[in-house]
Amino acid sequence: MVDTDAGVKAKMIEVACKGCGTCAATCYKRAITMIHYTDEQIGAQLRVAFRDKA
Ligand code: SF4
Repeated sequence: MVDTDAGVKAKMIEVACKGCGTCAATCYKRAITMIHYTDEQIGAQLRVAFRDKA
């Protein structure tokens, strides 16, 4: 955690990040966007994967 003028904020340590996406998936403010796996990109992958299944 880091103190800023806007309050206490979380600070991600890049070398320790496994890229699991848990922080982005659970952030109720949607303040976190995963690199290479934005909501739009995942949605597009799911639409293609299930295109013929519905
Ligand atoms: S993506 Fe996973 S490992 Fe990386 S900061 Fe978020 S919760 Fe931690």
